[in-house]
Amino acid sequence: MKNGLCPGIIGLDSEEKYKRLFSAKEGNAASFRSGHVVLKAGEGIGEHNTGDFEEILIILEGKGELYIKSSGGTPEKVRIQEFAKDTALYVPPDTLHDVKNTGAGMLKYVFITCPACVKDQQKCTSVTYCAERGCEQVKRPLYDYIYGPVPSWRLGSSLGVDLLSQEEKICVFDCVYCQIGSTPIKTVERKVYVPTEKVIKEIKSLPAGLSIDHITFSGRGEPTLARNFGEIIRKIRELRREKIAVITNSSLMRDKSVRDDLALADLVMVKLDAATQECFEKINAPADGIRLSDLLEGIKAFRSEHDTKLALQIMFAEMNKDEYKKLAELAFEIRPDEIQINTPLRPCGIKPLSKHEIVHIKEYFEDLGRKTGSISKIIVVYEAEHKRAKAIDRRKTLKRRGSPQ
Ligand code: SF4
Repeated sequence: MKNGLCPGIIGLDSEEKYKRLFSAKEGNAASFRSGHVVLKAGEGIGEHNTGDFEEILIILEGKGELYIKSSGGTPEKVRIQEFAKDTALYVPPDTLHDVKNTGAGMLKYVFITCPACVKDQQKCTSVTYCAERGCEQVKRPLYDYIYGPVPSWRLGSSLGVDLLSQEEKICVFDCVYCQIGSTPIKTVERKVYVPTEKVIKEIKSLPAGLSIDHITFSGRGEPTLARNFGEIIRKIRELRREKIAVITNSSLMRDKSVRDDLALADLVMVKLDAATQECFEKINAPADGIRLSDLLEGIKAFRSEHDTKLALQIMFAEMNKDEYKKLAELAFEIRPDEIQINTPLRPCGIKPLSKHEIVHIKEYFEDLGRKTGSISKIIVVYEAEHKRAKAIDRRKTLKRRGSPQ
């Protein structure tokens, strides 16, 4: 068969939440991706954005709601579309959306996404076909691995570097508050996802006069999964003067080589959202074998081995707010330079805590800090100044941030 593609058949009797069907990514389709989704009563797939892909949902069983929050990079009112069995729904490209089961039984559907190329609908049958013919729609993205700059309450104007840059998010965690949706590929495997030269080529082609405070390793997943992140930090240093930050979920910091590479940055922001293993599993849903004690051991070892500026980021929500006292104790055991008290204000699957609750938590941290003689600076998301920044490519940025701000 042409391009090695063959006819195929896959059963739809799965009860798995997410099962991939025919897909260009799997190599058993030319250009689209498809999957079978099963959601229990009350369950949602999680907010996500298919970027340049348009999507069709074919409802096989149950009923639910489709939430659409933004389109074309412009925030819009939330739109809710109710649906039931034997219907098909269309989701335009570049749209932040979520699907929830509102029935008492299972909701089952098949989704199909495809590159939304509108240039020549008669001929544009695959990305490869379009790219070979120099189609502008395919050539349009200037940057595949760099996004922003985005306004960050912690980093000012932050240019993101996404060293995973896969169609689907790859992470060690599946945090309930993740703004880019659930984690289809949960792994601890470190490897080169994007060759160093490709990232450096994009860094070299940045427009002159771009206002950046930090070049930040973050994006669609955990940056330390990229085995070459240390090498890329070194090479960026030779080219740019901005400070370099890495935002990590701390999951791989038990590995000394990860810690040594992190130390090449100017600022390392580590995540700690739970003080107990039970809460850790609920809020961060880590990959098998990752324990809270691994994070703590790794962060503390980093602190004792390196002078690199260390910030501890704690995301508070309903499910971990009762652990704030224990988290404060752990924070001061770590002795970071900065403690960042956060709550999910950007669109995601859960509600943020109120300003009142966050300020109460901050005051507890401050009291304990005074008692323990800590010199950690404490900042909270509600009180931070939000610097303005203009992204080079809003669509690519939205894909990594889940919202334009
Ligand atoms: S660690 Fe970050 S990217 Fe990974 S699931 Fe949590 S919030 Fe999302």
